Amino acid sequence: MSDIIQLLPDHVANQIAAGEVVQRPASVVKELLENAIDANATEIKLIIKDAGKTLVQVIDNGKGMSTTDARLSFERHATSKIKAAEDLFQLNTKGFRGEALASIAAIAHVELKSKQDKDDLGTAIVIEGSDVKSQEVSVTPTGTSVAVKHLFFNIPARRNFLKSDTVELRHITDEFHRVALAHPNIAFAFYHNGSDLFNVPQENYRQRVVHIFGSKTNEKLVPVEEETEVLKISGFVGKPNFSKKTKSEQFFFVNQRFVKSPYLNHAIKSAFEGLLKEGYHPSYFLNLTVDPKSIDINIHPTKTEIKFDDEHTLYAILRSAVKHSLGQFNIAPVLDFEHQSSLNTPYDYKDKKASTPAIEVDRSFNPFADETRVKQKATSQNTRFKSAPTTSWDGLYAGLESNGNDLQSDFSQVTFESEAKDASIFNDSAIETTKTTFQLQQKYIVSTLKSGMLVVDQNRAHQRVLYENFLKHITIKEATSQQLLFPLQLHFTPNETKIIDDLKADLEHTGFVFSELTEKEITITGVPVGVPESEVSIILEQLISDVENDVPDTNFSAADLLAKSMAKSLAIKNGQSLNSTEQEHMVNSLFACKEPNVSPTNKPTFITMAVDDIEKKFM
Ligand code: ADP
Ligand code: MG
Repeated sequence: MSDIIQLLPDHVANQIAAGEVVQRPASVVKELLENAIDANATEIKLIIKDAGKTLVQVIDNGKGMSTTDARLSFERHATSKIKAAEDLFQLNTKGFRGEALASIAAIAHVELKSKQDKDDLGTAIVIEGSDVKSQEVSVTPTGTSVAVKHLFFNIPARRNFLKSDTVELRHITDEFHRVALAHPNIAFAFYHNGSDLFNVPQENYRQRVVHIFGSKTNEKLVPVEEETEVLKISGFVGKPNFSKKTKSEQFFFVNQRFVKSPYLNHAIKSAFEGLLKEGYHPSYFLNLTVDPKSIDINIHPTKTEIKFDDEHTLYAILRSAVKHSLGQFNIAPVLDFEHQSSLNTPYDYKDKKASTPAIEVDRSFNPFADETRVKQKATSQNTRFKSAPTTSWDGLYAGLESNGNDLQSDFSQVTFESEAKDASIFNDSAIETTKTTFQLQQKYIVSTLKSGMLVVDQNRAHQRVLYENFLKHITIKEATSQQLLFPLQLHFTPNETKIIDDLKADLEHTGFVFSELTEKEITITGVPVGVPESEVSIILEQLISDVENDVPDTNFSAADLLAKSMAKSLAIKNGQSLNSTEQEHMVNSLFACKEPNVSPTNKPTFITMAVDDIEKKFM
């Protein structure tokens, strides 16, 4: 028999190797952000289109590359970060394998622009599927910009494997959070489809945590500081009463690298012993600094595990440091040495009690009196609202009282949209006579009330509307279902199908029809009316992860969890623009709910500001 072994052509070898490094758009985000950090950037901009499927671009103001280096950076095993194997034990950079750019260039269209400070002109290189298409001298600012377009364009199987934009964006956001939390001394901006999701300046660690997780986080942070010969710890744990049912706020960074360590996580859990309710998880944001010699990160590029030389000692130090901080917190209010004026309540509001809005329903109010707009029907494909209540929200809040405290905490971050379309509201003379809504940052719906201003969080509001709707269907057990043309087959692990099986009856009450449910496979032949087929796998995935994170306790109600989870999956997201009919419809639907004030997860759905308060701001 003749010889059969042959060497794979380079481009095939590159594509295979790329699969190791790049699983999804979030992997590209991670590699590019890390390269920018290794280049000592102080400002990094991340620009994403279509959850990274169309574009992932990272622009940094770091040290840039020479023309030769720019070209070489795309070669496999080309790195400036290590020279010999020994260097692996002295790593101060994120990268060292020299694989990322080569891998990304093998499976995408890449445009790199880079310039060093000392040079007047930079270099621009275009590579598509490892082929260099062009290399030119380019006028570009100091630093580097790498744009990665059409990821997996030459591996359709991989491209098809990508999840919905919602899921991919969630992965990207997770990576972004990890990198941004590890580097508070770097300013980051993050744009998705033109709207900015994050914009954080250079700041201290507390400010960074608060910017990423929201202003409410500030009050729950307990500082943890410890320095020993082998380990330095700094950061925060969350006060026990703010603990969560999910593990979404658990962050360890070792030498500014995000790691997962079940062992060290256990150290924290044991420090919290006796302080947490069953099924709740502590929040923590902790930076550990150790000698690079004492850790081994020479593992798979996409993994986040780490090996320590002396885990037992680290465990003991960490546990006692956290216990100590919690102890202090229990005895006396925490003294905050890192005083952040920008995060504190302005003087005027300091001793003012938050007043509950007094809601007086104006019974004589007739929603049809001077309005023609309520007759309009929502026509857009985008709206998935089902009921069309015709209450007008303004009447509900006739006696609105000051509730300014809610608004002011986020006030410094408010920036107004500059898009041209918004200019029309100022020209529109109708603004005086009919109620007008407009969208702020594609996130909030703003409207006027008799006594002031109403700002609705579109995502939370829609979650509330959908939640009540689903809950109703589940309880009265008569939802309508829409038959699928072709049965939908989904694959899960046995654990996951078990969760679906447990919830089967409730799922059926929302309108799902299952024709088969085995250990590994679920076949669906019908879905609730209004739920697009493409969303089905996301809903179920979300549901599974919600159930996994939400350890059943006494209050556990499968129906409630299901309704919450589906509402979360299907609600209109931030960043989606709504036309005025949709905006009005959203507000009306919200106020037709039983509990319009809070989202299914108990977060405020809207805030109001009375004219009095607005007047005060102008004094
Ligand atoms: P690694 O980061 O493991 O060295 P990469 O493939 O990610 O490998 O990058 C290859 C090389 O290209 C890096 O070692 C670095 O010298 C250079 N490089 C990549 N990105 C940048 C950047 N944003 N700024 C400056 N140099 C960069
Ligand atoms: Mg790298």
